[in-house]
Amino acid sequence: SSLDFDLVVVGSGFFGLTIAERAASDGHRVIVIDRRDHIGGNAYSHRDPDTGIEVHNYGAHLFHTSNRTVWEYVNRFTSFTSYQHRVHTNHHGVVYPLPINLGTINQFFASAHSPEEARRLIAEQASEFTIADARNLEEKAIALIGRPLYEAFIRDYTAKQWQTDPTELPAEVISRLPVRYTYDSRYFNDAFEGLPVDGYTAWIERMADHPLIEVRLGTDFFDESQPINKAAVVGTLPVVYTGPVDRYFDYAAGPLGWRTLDFTSEVVPVPDFQGTPVMNYADADVPYTRIHEFRHFHPEREEYPKDRTIIMREYSRFAEADDEPYYPVNTPDDRSKLLQYREMQASQPDVLFGGRLGTYQYLDMHMAIGSALTQYANKVAPMLSGSPSA
Ligand code: FAD
Ligand code: UDP
Repeated sequence: SSLDFDLVVVGSGFFGLTIAERAASDGHRVIVIDRRDHIGGNAYSHRDPDTGIEVHNYGAHLFHTSNRTVWEYVNRFTSFTSYQHRVHTNHHGVVYPLPINLGTINQFFASAHSPEEARRLIAEQASEFTIADARNLEEKAIALIGRPLYEAFIRDYTAKQWQTDPTELPAEVISRLPVRYTYDSRYFNDAFEGLPVDGYTAWIERMADHPLIEVRLGTDFFDESQPINKAAVVGTLPVVYTGPVDRYFDYAAGPLGWRTLDFTSEVVPVPDFQGTPVMNYADADVPYTRIHEFRHFHPEREEYPKDRTIIMREYSRFAEADDEPYYPVNTPDDRSKLLQYREMQASQPDVLFGGRLGTYQYLDMHMAIGSALTQYANKVAPMLSGSPSA
C-alpha cells in the first residue's frame, strides 16, 4: 500500500534527514516528504549553470561546531575544506574587520592601542551601562563596546536586520557578540569548521541515499490530494514533523512572527568583486545588510571562472503569510503562543516536532543535526521498536 513505511518524516532539511538516515540505518522504512522541489531545506545549494560557482540559495551557510559527536557524524557524508569564516563591514565608506577586535578598534580610533589600553578606552566609553543591568540590545551593546563603536557598527545594522528599534530588542540578540582584544578576526570560536568539499547538495544527497529511504518532493503534508498527508497518517504511523508548528495546528493560537530575507543575485563581469566572502553594510542609507560573493567560499576550486563572479545582496524584513520563515522574532506574544502550541503537542503522542520551524527556534546546522541525533535516540528509536517513550 502507499503507507508501506515505518516512519514519516515531514521536511528534508538537516533535522529531517538526520532522523531518516538514523532510522534507515536501524532497518526501518522511511518516507521523507518536502513541499519544495529540492532536498536539503535551507542548506540547499546549486552550481550556477553559467559560471559553475556554488550558490547557497537561502543565504550563505557556514558549517562550524564544537560537538565532536556531530562532527564525526557529518564526516560520514562529506569531507570539509579548511575554510575559516571572516567578515568585514563597510561604515561611511571605510572597511573594518568584524567581529569587533583590536584591529577594528585601532582602525576606528586611528590608534595603536595595546590590548590593555584598548580595554581601558572601551571601559570608559561603556560606563553608561553595566552588562548586568542592561535592559535591551542597545544598553547591552553599549555596555560591551561603548557608544561610538555601537553607533558605527551595531545600531543601524541591527535596525535594518530587525526593523525594530534596538531599545526594543532583547539583550540576548547581541550577547554572543564577541569583542576581542587581540587581532583574531575569526567569526566563529568553534573547534571544527569548514565547508563541504563537494558542496552542500552532495552531502545532503548522501544522507538520503539509502535503500530504505524514499524521498517525495513537491509534496505538502497538508495537501490531502496526496497520500502522505496529516489526516491520512497521524495516528497510523509515527511522524517527525519539521514544518512550522503553528501551521500544524491550523494557527489555532495565532501565527508566530518570523523574519524573512530577500536575496538578489547577479553575475558581475570582474574576476573579484569585493575580495572576501561577506561584506556587511553598517549604515542606514544602504538598504541591504550584506553582500555575499560565493567564489570566496571555495578558494580551492580551480575550475571557477577567472572573469566572472556571483554576488548576492541580502535584505531583511518581516515575513508575510507566503514568505519563507527564516528567523523567529520571539516577542513576548510569540513566546506565549508557542507555549500554547507546546500544550497542543501533548495531544499528538505519535507526532514529534523538531528542527527550526517545528520548535520555533533559531538553530545552526550543527544544532539541528545534534538535536535530531538526540531525538532519534531518545524518542524515535523507542517508538519504532514498539515501545513508545511518551
Ligand atoms: P529546514 O532546513 O528549514 O528544513 C525544513 C524543511 O521542511 C524545508 O525543506 C521545508 O520545505 C519543509 N517543509 C515545511 N513545511 C512543510 C510541509 N507542510 N510539507 C512538507 N515539507 C515541509 N546554520 C549554520 O550552521 N551556519 C550558517 O551559516 C547558517 N546560515 C543560515 C542562514 C540563513 C538565512 C538561515 C535561514 C539559516 C541559516 N543556518 C545556518 C541554519 C540552517 O539553515 C538550519 O540549521 C537548518 O536549515 C535547520 O534544518 P531544519 O531541518 O530544522 O530546517
Ligand atoms: N550585528 C551588527 N552588525 C554587524 C553584524 C551583526 O549589529 O555587522 C548584530 C545584529 O544585531 C545581528 C546580530 O549582531 O542581528 C547577530 O549577527 P550575526 O551575523 O551573527 O547573525 P546572522 O545574521 O548571521 O544570523
